[in-house]
Amino acid sequence: MHKGIAVSPGVVVGIAYRVDSVFGTSEPQTLDHPEQTVDEIARFDRAVSVSATELEGIITKVAQQLGSAEADIFRTHLQIVNDQTLVTKVHALIESQQLTALSALQIFLQGYAASFARVEQDYFRERMADVRDVILRIGSHLTLHPPVAPNAAQTNGHGEDPLILVAHEILPSQAMSLGNLPIAGIVTETGGGTSHAAILSRSRGIPAVAGVVGITGDVRSGDVIIVDGRDGLVLVRPDSETTSAYRKLQREFFNLKDRLVLNRDEPAKSSDGAQIELLANINNLADTQAAAKVGATGVGLFRTEYLFLTHQDVPDEEEQYEYYRQIIEDSPNRTVTIRTLDLGGDKTVAYLGRRSEANPFMGWRSIRLSFEHPRLFERQIRAILRAGRHGKVNMLFPMITTLEELRYVNKLVEETKRNLRREGVPFGEDVKTGVMVEVPAAAVCIDAILRETDFISIGSNDLIQYLVAADRDNPKVAHLCEPLSPAIFRVLQMVLDACQRTGTPVTLCGEMAGQPRSVLALFGMGLRRFSMSPAFVPTIKALLASVTTAQAERFAHQVLQLKTSEEIKAYLTSRLHEVSSMLEVFDSV
Ligand code: PEP
Ligand code: MG
Repeated sequence: MHKGIAVSPGVVVGIAYRVDSVFGTSEPQTLDHPEQTVDEIARFDRAVSVSATELEGIITKVAQQLGSAEADIFRTHLQIVNDQTLVTKVHALIESQQLTALSALQIFLQGYAASFARVEQDYFRERMADVRDVILRIGSHLTLHPPVAPNAAQTNGHGEDPLILVAHEILPSQAMSLGNLPIAGIVTETGGGTSHAAILSRSRGIPAVAGVVGITGDVRSGDVIIVDGRDGLVLVRPDSETTSAYRKLQREFFNLKDRLVLNRDEPAKSSDGAQIELLANINNLADTQAAAKVGATGVGLFRTEYLFLTHQDVPDEEEQYEYYRQIIEDSPNRTVTIRTLDLGGDKTVAYLGRRSEANPFMGWRSIRLSFEHPRLFERQIRAILRAGRHGKVNMLFPMITTLEELRYVNKLVEETKRNLRREGVPFGEDVKTGVMVEVPAAAVCIDAILRETDFISIGSNDLIQYLVAADRDNPKVAHLCEPLSPAIFRVLQMVLDACQRTGTPVTLCGEMAGQPRSVLALFGMGLRRFSMSPAFVPTIKALLASVTTAQAERFAHQVLQLKTSEEIKAYLTSRLHEVSSMLEVFDSV
């Protein structure tokens, strides 16, 4: 049994699928017959040639959209693709060891990584990252043709059991392609409760555990494993009694979820009738359908960076406009809060430069990056404003730290509107603009911020990591990234009070918004708009329906008196038990 961090609730018994990266298993795959080598080499050559053509297109587009210097990285990638050493070595591996092209590529990459492992210079590190990018690109073309996604029957021989992905880490850029795989659980060695792989598992409503040290060394593809996303446990090769006990829990959990979603058409309100808005956090178009299915009344946070992370090259203004329009049209009540780019930190795209920073989350991230690429930023603002004609649209700016930044952004929006008017391009005149309160400096100066913005959205995931100075992706400090803690609640109360005084609309869109114990306190503190992974909407609706405003206010009052996280957790655990013990399974312990 392994203990990790519970990141997405639920229990699943399944078959392990170990991956090094999303395009392949870690164990070398051999061809069934030696005569297949010729076809396999041809398949590999096609993937190389498609990659080269793709890179040529990207170079042209990035140079047009961002400037020639930004395209340099792809010129380097093209050189690597065209390098005969790579091709010759992969051919040799396929021929001599009868490997699949994908396995041969992986072995080539491992060899390359090993030879650079001890080199400290940044130049070689970056070169390594470039080779890795190129290999991922060629690999992704190989997986477009079978053998592609894992097939449960092939991998395990256990019939119907679903697959559980076991990986060292899942990068945000890879996370989206996981959407197409039939995965029922996720276990990673790295990451924490609000890392992006965790957010992805939650949005798909599948159980997940992160920060499980040593799991990749213990599990092989095909092993039976159990993921308990509430207690943060992973059981490897369990005995039959344990397996059947967990299968029972799994059935109960899914039955409960199926029952809860029946509340999708009911309005969200407390048991004494206070109106609440439950919105969805989405990353792509597919998520809007999930949001509609569970009864969210709008999208409270659309993370646009996923469009950039999954796009072939840089999405231009027209492509962005079309995508945002579709999102708006498919969203419940055509209500969408579109957040401008939040790249950097752990989400990088090569064309904005790959800087190695000692503290990427504290560095060149989010709106700071947009400021440095004004053309890119302006195009995004234009696309959002134009899409604003198709629904009720808000534009949200991430990681605002100072009032100067907010003023600069507001000025940019006004200038962009003037340009659109001058050009005669129609746009949504009533698009509201808002600030994500996720840097403590903005929370502390909230009064000044509120005077110059239409609305705010509290990004508790970042607010917590910056408040407690603990990286949200680092399992070693995960105990500090605890939402149920005195410092967090005090800051949140301060922000909520300021919004109440000024009548400013406020939403909380961090992961806390979908966690029952946090929601009990937040509702009592006056919050009325919660935005969360779609899968949690039915649970939070059921929870709020079983509590009165006065009751929740008492809980909040008490929480604000408590001095430690342990006390707050114990207190809210008891309150949740009283209010709705049935919903306890949706909160981690
Ligand atoms: C947050 O920080 O709480 C948030 C919602 O944004 P993200 O998780 O994308 O950083
Ligand atoms: Mg954030």
